Amino acid sequence: MKVAIRDDDTCYFTAPADLERVYRGIWERIPVCLATIPRAMGYRSPAVPKAFWESGEAFALERNPELVSALREWLPARRITIALHGYTHEDFPGGWEFQAAPDPDRRVRDGLASLRSTLGADISIFVPPHNALSKQGMAAVRGAGLNLLGSFLSFHPSRRPFELRTVPNWWRVQRFRARTGRTRHDPMIFPRVLRYGRHAEFGCHSLIPGTTREALVKGFEEARAFGGDFCLATHYWEVDDRLRGILEDVLAHAARYTDVRFVAAEELFGEQ
Ligand SMILES: [Zn+2]
Repeated sequence: MKVAIRDDDTCYFTAPADLERVYRGIWERIPVCLATIPRAMGYRSPAVPKAFWESGEAFALERNPELVSALREWLPARRITIALHGYTHEDFPGGWEFQAAPDPDRRVRDGLASLRSTLGADISIFVPPHNALSKQGMAAVRGAGLNLLGSFLSFHPSRRPFELRTVPNWWRVQRFRARTGRTRHDPMIFPRVLRYGRHAEFGCHSLIPGTTREALVKGFEEARAFGGDFCLATHYWEVDDRLRGILEDVLAHAARYTDVRFVAAEELFGEQ
């Protein structure tokens, strides 16, 4: 069984010390997949310092050299891997970035080029801002050959670009829902990789302020019972001592099983 960690929103506004505070003592054991924003927009968000809330300006990652050099040091040390997390992460009047931006293809292309050249990172994963993707947004991600690491993605064929694997994958998800006694409205994380024609998808368990240790352990045990894997997703900027404690406890719970392997999120998509 594979266990991974994803952390969202690393960008121009991130201080390396913020990431060190959360992951020191953890990323030596398990690389953290940093879902990174190449040109973060200054807008009203708890992830953005208040001084930038009204700026309306997109800040390229490379304008924070202290962060860039820290990331370039942590990458070869295997403390982190880098995923693409939108382009500006801005909210549009009609929805989140990858639901409502008019140019998702360009955003994926430019975002990848920017992160690859600034960080020299191999990037194979896209994490949608706010876990939200329109059909067009999903087509952009698929077109770039990226795998999708999300949390609440919709599997219903009517909400996805058409392809042959959509219907059988939807049935797999439906069977899992029925076997676990869930209705259509109950939250659910499907614990196995879903493979499509050109990409694959995997769902994460959120660690946010309302999350309990018990809920995550239950999610881990359910994934385990179904022969699946487990990925935790959080935001460094809201990890306080309580959430840090839960993260440690869940990892300790997983580590009790001898077949559990702590892996980089990219390995969730591997065959083994
Ligand atoms: Zn985000």
